[in-house]
Amino acid sequence: MATPPIENLIIIGSGPAGWSAATYAARAQLEPLVYEGAISEKNRMAGTLPLGQLALTSEVENYAGFPHGDLGAFLDSALPPERRQMMAPHAGEGVTGPELMELMRQQAVNFGTRVVTDDILKVDFSKRPFQLQPADGAPIFARCVIVATGASANWLGLPSEERFKNRGVSACAVCDGALPRFRNRELVVVGGGDSAVEEATYLAKFASRVHLVHRRDALRASKIMAQRAHDDPKITIHFDTALAEVLGDDKAGVTGVRLESTTDKGKESKLDVAGVFLAIGHTPNTAFLDGQLELTPKKYIVWKKHFRTDTSVEGVFAAGDVADDHYRQAISAAGTGCMAALDAERWLASQGHH
Ligand code: NAP
Repeated sequence: MATPPIENLIIIGSGPAGWSAATYAARAQLEPLVYEGAISEKNRMAGTLPLGQLALTSEVENYAGFPHGDLGAFLDSALPPERRQMMAPHAGEGVTGPELMELMRQQAVNFGTRVVTDDILKVDFSKRPFQLQPADGAPIFARCVIVATGASANWLGLPSEERFKNRGVSACAVCDGALPRFRNRELVVVGGGDSAVEEATYLAKFASRVHLVHRRDALRASKIMAQRAHDDPKITIHFDTALAEVLGDDKAGVTGVRLESTTDKGKESKLDVAGVFLAIGHTPNTAFLDGQLELTPKKYIVWKKHFRTDTSVEGVFAAGDVADDHYRQAISAAGTGCMAALDAERWLASQGHH
């Protein structure tokens, strides 16, 4: 039986960390292989489709190098027609999350990165070469691995939330907000961070009113974002309030919510709404590692050396939100992707693989 080839470097994940790692590794002639994730309903529901969380956002205003401007012609020239056709036309404003991710992917591919549109379900880091099991096909082998699987949206865990998922309950306004069921209707967004404000302001374009429900008395969002929520005439902020139950029926889906005060025990209220959007933070996508890398109590991969991307297993590096519970920005994820590729390149060289 033919021995399977041993890859120099496999990168798992396809957000800014994965693509920037791939671009650096490809330019260093490491011939990286990226597992970008599968396109499946399971991944859609879990928020783990290819291109990561940025593919689920609207405009990205704070990624350096992309001021407002008409990027249409640039996108046409930079992307192959088959990928460009899958995207919405450029709106003439700043770069959008999906546009930025397609550009990053293409940049990595231009330098020879190979891409597999599949998930890695299991890893074995206990022996060398490392063994990785894709969802589809035989195990693959690698001398070095960069884990850049990011994080995905949290849910509250209410039974009623589960019941109405896909029928008015969502964790992605950009994916679902423009659906007819939400247009000109009242909607709820739960959360108080930048994501919640971003979702609320995005939804306010379609909805008749957006109720931003936050459990504390102040938003966690950055000042500029919080001000945007306060200034938007279509957004009503409900402080010190929690979502207790999603109301609805099998035919209509979501028809309302029951809210509880977090400061005044027993005080309840109801709102008639057609949709509920959760924006209550993220959990790192580390379950597939099955305890083989050291994790923090919140399940983020631990970077073992100061200002390096080394994990607890030599030859395995981590980049982006899967290891970063502090900055969690597209640009910092891309930065650590670059660091992981350089760390991988130096480690491979130290092992005699150039
Ligand atoms: P986040 O900053 O962690 O905020 C999560 C929010 O959800 C908090 O307000 C939190 O409440 C609330 N929350 C958490 N668990 C909850 C629960 N069980 N019930 C009710 N509420 C709950 O997460 P994020 O908004 O997703 O942002 C993540 C990172 O991405 C941040 O660093 C953010 O700056 C960045 N980001 C940036 C932009 C941008 O710059 N345009 C856009 C999106 C995200 P408490 O406040 O009470 O903890």
